[in-house]
Amino acid sequence: MNNGIMINVEKLNKTFGDLHVLKDIDMTVKQSEVVCLIGASGSGKSTLLRCINFLELKDSGLVMIGGEKIEKETHDLNEVRVKVGMVFQHFNLFPHKTVLENVMEAPIYVKKCPKEEAKMEARALLKKVGLSDKEDVYPSKLSGGQKQRVAIARALAMKPEIMLFDEPTSALDPELVGEVLATMKELAEEGMTMVVVTHEMGFAREVADWAVYMHEGRIVEVGHPEQLFSNPKEERTKNFLDSVL
Ligand code: ADP
Ligand code: MG
Repeated sequence: MNNGIMINVEKLNKTFGDLHVLKDIDMTVKQSEVVCLIGASGSGKSTLLRCINFLELKDSGLVMIGGEKIEKETHDLNEVRVKVGMVFQHFNLFPHKTVLENVMEAPIYVKKCPKEEAKMEARALLKKVGLSDKEDVYPSKLSGGQKQRVAIARALAMKPEIMLFDEPTSALDPELVGEVLATMKELAEEGMTMVVVTHEMGFAREVADWAVYMHEGRIVEVGHPEQLFSNPKEERTKNFLDSVL
């Protein structure tokens, strides 16, 4: 029973040494919601995502996934991570594996999925991201946009319930951004619960249910993208938007 709440973060604090990176973060994401996270470099966006899929461990506070309170003492974090897929700015594909092998890898080695089944599912996912014709190609032969779509297929291969995207299009040439955003939009339309760090305001307006502005480790403002971007309530949000738009 989780009442449709997929992510619940309460009073989350995280420090790195003397640096207090996340300060009393509260955030609740319901099933099939898409949330965009914006904020200046260093404001803690990546750390927040990493705490939600346990690549970083919180100092204090609560992180619940699918209604369950997750603690390293009581949970196998690798199992939790299967539920929470993540796509990074840099694609981190295995260079010595083909596109198909990249997508098959985690289901086989982490989920112990039979190879033939993993292959069938990987092919279906490559079809979904429009890369069926690239299955035998090595990543070095792909464009950045194609690499990122493989990375998305690879994350989806674990059948996550939640997908986190950390600036998925920031490393791409402008002409390749659209194809990746289109893939993400399709995923959102299928009902995937998503948290997306992005400064692609067009995407945020079109796809996100709500948006969050972070500043120096705090959530400063939350709102509908249209309202947050066009008519921010907080001076700090306004200043930030003036600097990026
Ligand atoms: P953003 O994604 O918004 O740019 P980050 O979450 O990456 O922000 O970083 C927030 C702050 O935490 C930055 O000052 C960054 O240098 C620091 N930081 C992030 N990861 C680490 C780490 N592993 N060790 C030490 N400091 C870190
Ligand atoms: Mg970041």
